[in-house]
Amino acid sequence: MNVDYWKNKDKRFILPTYGERKIGFLRGEGVWLYDIGGRKYLDLLSGIGVNILGHSHPRVVKAIKEQSEKIIHTSNLYLIPNQIKLAEKLISLTFPGKCFFCNSGTEAVEGAIKLAKKWGKNKGKWKLISMENSFHGRTCGALSITGQRKYQKNFLPLLQGIKFVPFNNIDSLKKEVDEETVAIIIEPVQGEGGINVAKKDFLYGARKIADEKDILLIFDEIQCGMGRVGKLFAFQKFGILPDILCIGKGIAGGVPMGAIIAGKKIESVFGVGDHASTFGGNPFVTHVSLEVLNTLIEERIIEKVEEKGKYLYEKLDLIKRKFPFIKKIKGLGLMVGVEVDGDVKKIKDICEKNGILVGTAGENVIRFLPPLIINKEEIDFGMNIFNKSLKEYAG
Ligand code: PLP
Repeated sequence: MNVDYWKNKDKRFILPTYGERKIGFLRGEGVWLYDIGGRKYLDLLSGIGVNILGHSHPRVVKAIKEQSEKIIHTSNLYLIPNQIKLAEKLISLTFPGKCFFCNSGTEAVEGAIKLAKKWGKNKGKWKLISMENSFHGRTCGALSITGQRKYQKNFLPLLQGIKFVPFNNIDSLKKEVDEETVAIIIEPVQGEGGINVAKKDFLYGARKIADEKDILLIFDEIQCGMGRVGKLFAFQKFGILPDILCIGKGIAGGVPMGAIIAGKKIESVFGVGDHASTFGGNPFVTHVSLEVLNTLIEERIIEKVEEKGKYLYEKLDLIKRKFPFIKKIKGLGLMVGVEVDGDVKKIKDICEKNGILVGTAGENVIRFLPPLIINKEEIDFGMNIFNKSLKEYAG
């Protein structure tokens, strides 16, 4: 069956929420993917930041096999040793508190919203402040705090009591806080909104406001966490602690999973029945996630991210000099954006045609989220093709 066969079936049976899908992959190994026709591509997007250990990493494959042969699902009615081990590990790697496990990033955000709301209930606090250009997911709660009109417009009215302030603008944030504000939610590096890195002063200022006004600070690290920016989590890079941390994407190396970590201040807020998930934190995903964390740590993968990110950044900077329509290179670690004055979708398509997978972010940014295991030769390979693709785009 060739690609056209699958394209036709895709149109016939899948709700068209993703736009046209022109290629599909049947196999992956490391940073490489092989499409339906057997052609090889360099993956510089990692399934939108998910495949942090690349494709079919031997340790992840082994963990999947091992655990699936033992037990996959039991429900949260019963003790789940793997879940407890993972929570203990995550806490030891972040800050004191407790975890809740779910199945996606959006669900982590939903959990964080509910946790904040319950914490604020007896204090008369219920309003949330989020950032313009932010992205937190597409369920109604997460969409309500996503600061992009294009995603919200067909689903209004959404949750009440949400305000958006310009990212990195502490004065605006200060102005919008009132007695009823329960939480401020920030992506330390905005992903979907265009790879915008928070200023340390802004995060510090947000922390200060939260402390002074008795408000929770929530960091959505679904895209920028799990080693992407050179520390396990971006808050560690900035040295600013959130009260709630939302995690997703790479947390289980491609097996669907999300999590929230609730710090000491709020770890006792949820009671029985306040929140739940049938699948969340099942023995299978938590075992795989533990192996992903162990691999990141034992193979010192995160320690090399900063250097690789710098290398990628430098290569992109050289390319930028040749193409005046490239306005800016931005990002942190291996989360890098190329801002262009041009048609990002067209550029992305040319890259795909030439054998590299890149993403887009915001209106005018090409997004690079390569697997964290990528090496310099692979970056060189990718940058040669990116350069060639831009030449082709420029005509
Ligand atoms: N938050 C951020 C920062 C994201 O980047 C995403 C997804 O791109 C989400 C939340 C939603 O995660 P998911 O698509 O796993 O539900």
